[in-house]
Amino acid sequence: MVRPTPIHSHRARSDALRLPVFEKGWVWLAGAGPGDPGLITALGLHAIEHADVILYDALVNPALLKLARPRAELVFAGKRAGVKSCKQSDISRTLVALAKKGKRVLRLKGGDPFVFGRGGEEALALTRGGVPFRIVPGVTAGIGGLAYAGIPVTHRDTNSAVTFITGHGADGKLPKLDWAAIAKGSPTLVLFMARKHAGDIAAKLMAAGRTPGEPAAIVSDATFDRQHVIITTLATLGEAAAASTAPAIIVIGENVKLREGLDWLGALAGRVLEPYPLGRDKLSDAV
Ligand code: SAH
Repeated sequence: MVRPTPIHSHRARSDALRLPVFEKGWVWLAGAGPGDPGLITALGLHAIEHADVILYDALVNPALLKLARPRAELVFAGKRAGVKSCKQSDISRTLVALAKKGKRVLRLKGGDPFVFGRGGEEALALTRGGVPFRIVPGVTAGIGGLAYAGIPVTHRDTNSAVTFITGHGADGKLPKLDWAAIAKGSPTLVLFMARKHAGDIAAKLMAAGRTPGEPAAIVSDATFDRQHVIITTLATLGEAAAASTAPAIIVIGENVKLREGLDWLGALAGRVLEPYPLGRDKLSDAV
């Protein structure tokens, strides 16, 4: 039997978690998770605690920045829909310049940096600039945000596949995708940045044969205390999205029904959960 040795010191904890030293002149590109500060990874927290400069996005929970070193420089490098407060090229240039000055630079992004987060673009700029970097994945809103709404992103009885989609192409329009193929091929769709075009997307899916009554959920401010969930259907998704607030993650698929049995946050507030939302007959044999 392996007995755990209690770990008390910060150093021992870093060793146990194999946390690498944040070297000067490096950029760490890290995901902060969707909102609840506790969803930061151990590596992400380590990076916050050791960075000299933190460039953070609009979607990063400010509570996390309180954990930075007292003399760390905190730079807002955010963009919100429609407001280009910071150009992508400027952010990349700043990262390279700060690293070349010998700083420990943390680029902190909402969710996961490589999920619709332009993390790839920024990292490529570092490669071009000859700056060493590390990628620290985070909990994406597309998975963790749904979990806080009691919606498993996959479930054996409802969906053996899931597709992550951005509702907002590089030109601001609906991305050019084969929507009919998506409608037929993917039982569950998770949409980022899709409030504006949700109605168009739903129309394309229904035109390709998805049923108007198919369940959908809109999770706004997922994992924050102010999280708000709207349960709707494909037919009414556009209206519901227009009434929702940003940021929101949208999920379309039968897995949305599982919320009736899995809304654990609702249960904390007194909601009575329905243990078999899909019916007993649909439960997998192995359960
Ligand atoms: N890299 C991020 C996604 C960035 S794109 C991630 O992995 O989560 C920005 C979009 O992500 C938002 O428009 C919204 O669709 C979604 N999003 C991010 N954080 C969210 C949150 N807390 N609640 C709901 N949606 C969120």
